Amino acid sequence: MPDHTLLLQIVRVALDVPVRHLFDYRVPDHDQLSTADIGYRVCVPFGQRQMVGIIVELAAASELPLAQLKPVTVVLRDLPRLPAAWFRLTEFCAAYYHAPLGQVMLSTLPAGLRSPAPAKARVRRGKVSAALAQQSPILTIEQEASLRAVAEGAGGFRAYLLHGVTGSGKTEVYLRLIERTLAAGQQSLLLVPEINLTPQLEARLTARFPDAGLASLHSELGDAARGRNWRAALTGAARIILGTRLAVFVPLPQLGLIVVDEEHDSSFKQQDGIRYSARDLAVFRARDSHILIVLGSATPSLESWANATDNAGGGRYRLLSLQQRAVEAARLPLVRTIDTRVDKPVDGLSRALLVAIEERLARAEQSLVFLNRRGYAPVLACSACGWTSHCHRCAANLVLHLADHCLRCHHCGFEARVPKYCPTCGNQDISAFGRGTQRIEEALTEHFPRARILRVDRDSAGSRRQWEALAARIEGGEADILVGTQMLAKGHDFPKLTLVGVIAPDSALFAADWRAPERLFAQLMQVAGRAGRAERPGEVLLQTQFPDHPLYDAVVRQDYPAFAAAQLRDRQQAGFPPYTYQAMLRAEAPRMADALCFLTAARACSSPNEEHRVTFYDPVPMRLSRRASLERGQLLVESSSRRTLQRFLRHWVSQLAAIKLPSRLRWHLEVDPLEF
Ligand code: ADP
Ligand code: ZN
Ligand code: ZN
Repeated sequence: MPDHTLLLQIVRVALDVPVRHLFDYRVPDHDQLSTADIGYRVCVPFGQRQMVGIIVELAAASELPLAQLKPVTVVLRDLPRLPAAWFRLTEFCAAYYHAPLGQVMLSTLPAGLRSPAPAKARVRRGKVSAALAQQSPILTIEQEASLRAVAEGAGGFRAYLLHGVTGSGKTEVYLRLIERTLAAGQQSLLLVPEINLTPQLEARLTARFPDAGLASLHSELGDAARGRNWRAALTGAARIILGTRLAVFVPLPQLGLIVVDEEHDSSFKQQDGIRYSARDLAVFRARDSHILIVLGSATPSLESWANATDNAGGGRYRLLSLQQRAVEAARLPLVRTIDTRVDKPVDGLSRALLVAIEERLARAEQSLVFLNRRGYAPVLACSACGWTSHCHRCAANLVLHLADHCLRCHHCGFEARVPKYCPTCGNQDISAFGRGTQRIEEALTEHFPRARILRVDRDSAGSRRQWEALAARIEGGEADILVGTQMLAKGHDFPKLTLVGVIAPDSALFAADWRAPERLFAQLMQVAGRAGRAERPGEVLLQTQFPDHPLYDAVVRQDYPAFAAAQLRDRQQAGFPPYTYQAMLRAEAPRMADALCFLTAARACSSPNEEHRVTFYDPVPMRLSRRASLERGQLLVESSSRRTLQRFLRHWVSQLAAIKLPSRLRWHLEVDPLEF
């Protein structure tokens, strides 16, 4: 019988280069490889340099003559092989998002494992801590029912949507599921949208499971720590992995549970490079590994809600609900609208809101004034000639940042000094229009000179360290009034906070993007959830010109199911997702004509036919039509069937590659786009 291992002299390697095939190399002379080596990293010569790749296949022959192939420089066996499930996940990601396989595979590895320098083979053991595990509370009836429903489900793949109002104890449900998973000898993967959420959650996880070797994976970790934690996951030393979207790819040999917290959050969608949805990949991964997945949110995405409730969704997910807050005394906050046509705001603040803040100050409680716009004012303008502060590289205004004495573009980062007079007509009377967090902070300081006011936005709390310092001050009672953007809305508990005032939410009601209402509702519910988490009841005041709008009505009643049902009805009628499937082709070039010309050619190169029943829209400039000196256009493709759309895209992408591009034109395809 022939020895097969000797016949396999070709190594197929995935490399981080933007082409859609693998690269063939020869087995190095001094080494013998078998299929048992698939999943090891290798160093190979590529052009003038050495690159790290991954062995994907071994083959007996190549399309190229053997003599033309270069040998692999070295096989890196410093880590366990990447498991088969990891290959299936990255292959699915590359196929579904139409991205080059090698780029997908390599981009999911920590930086240290992608460079040819030999890795240091140091594995952190699960921390053995002398501390006793924190006691778990007695479950509420609803938590109990949810956990029972999950336990009763058959083994194998099961997807649950856990819908629970803020403070209803979703996290406690996750902790119990993790506990069961640990007891079964399996690993748990917990995905969260933002790093700012993790300090409290991290602390809760380590307190409850001190011996589980919790490993965090997020972009603010240094390369070394990230590499260490990633290895601990791969070797099985870490039993719980807490991470942001990229962590969906971490290889886990004994995975038993995936939790996606705040599953509706748009940060699960990667917005550049390979535009994947970590939530959707997590569902694929759970199905592929025959395990349990729980998606949790107070305001689920409408896609997930349809999957859990709608007949069209086919009952893909089972719905679990928590409708009461977990701590008995903690009631849901009382939400009221303030009609700003009657109670006209001065400096952005209505009478009713000022009175409510005054009451909190008197009772030594905290208030939060929420405005989702940082800076001092969105634009500086001249009343004499109509000049406005405009970014010359983007189709956008420069935002006035008085705290830093500059005008700043929020799209490309361009900065300019604040002019003393109008650059066009010389008028000295130029003024700020509209309001951002800095201006509200200023107005509050005037109204409440003795109050301690703290602003929390990306300018004041951009890094995790800054944010943790601010959060600690807030928790320590060092602030009376918080002014903040959505950073403050997410996931953090501030027990003394009993009032939330929402300034100017109205513009999102009439935005061109049909997902804007969904986002506004989620944001309002989330920020409302900040009020009254402990024993003190909370109050939420919404300043609006449209107090009778159905969206606000649903917010006042805190009735997500009613809101979702109405939105899904609208979407079904209009033929929007989740009742249709979309992909967006985007192009950017120095001239808009070039971008649109490419998109037109792209549309023409494939005509819809029986096999490809897709609808093309017209190529159009994007809403932000110019960014960082590049003009941007987009072309939407749609189909009522995901499979048809996918089949079409596969065929289309291969044709797009053949279109001759003007210099400096770049394009990308986004499947299931979220922003328009
Ligand atoms: P969510 O994740 O839904 O916002 P959490 O799990 O963070 O809610 O719970 C909110 C608060 O209620 C936390 O302070 C938590 O410690 C507490 N809590 C959760 N479940 C229980 C329970 N069964 N008994 C008592 N307190 C609980
Ligand atoms: Zn002027
Ligand atoms: Zn700009």
